[in-house]
Amino acid sequence: NVGVVTADMIDMLSKKSFPLCMQNVHVHLKQSHHLRHGSRLQYGLFLKGIGLSLEEAVKYFRIEFMKSMDVDTFDKKYSYGIRYNYGKEGKKTDYTPFGCMKIIMNNPPATGDSHGCPFRHFDTDLLKQRISSQGLTKEGVETVMKYTKGGHCQVACAKYFELTHGISDSGTEVEMVIQHPNQYFERSQKLLN
Ligand code: SF4
Repeated sequence: NVGVVTADMIDMLSKKSFPLCMQNVHVHLKQSHHLRHGSRLQYGLFLKGIGLSLEEAVKYFRIEFMKSMDVDTFDKKYSYGIRYNYGKEGKKTDYTPFGCMKIIMNNPPATGDSHGCPFRHFDTDLLKQRISSQGLTKEGVETVMKYTKGGHCQVACAKYFELTHGISDSGTEVEMVIQHPNQYFERSQKLLN
């Protein structure tokens, strides 16, 4: 990981180095000031994996959630789950962040949920709109959509990575398939720093 990650760095990191799945949860959190269970788990563990400490995670979620509830409600209903992700509650297991297969295959998002993999769970128009807004060329968008339509979510994600990081163009095969959101993040940080 990049070393010490603090709550106030997340917005910037999400734009530069988060895969689409985690960027989506971050945007959803900023807009609705709330996350459902599936997202808190998928996203909370990802954040732990990039080096966000428990204290900073509580701070990050608290700042957003408090725009829609008071601090007591947050502490009662949500801080347990954050501590749980860090192995401080319940079975006290040090949970590891979910890999792509798990996110793609398990627990599909229902309406109002923001977890899941956009390459698998978004409808075509929404996905196209999201990836188009990241400065991809028309050919780039078409290539990513072609992999997505073929059911190759992790290849689509890899192509999206390469195009947004300027390391390949739409005509070439992907260099490395994305297996894990934290792999995406680390690879991005290595290229950018
Ligand atoms: Fe996230 Fe993996 Fe889907 Fe990429 S392929 S958006 S990293 S779940």
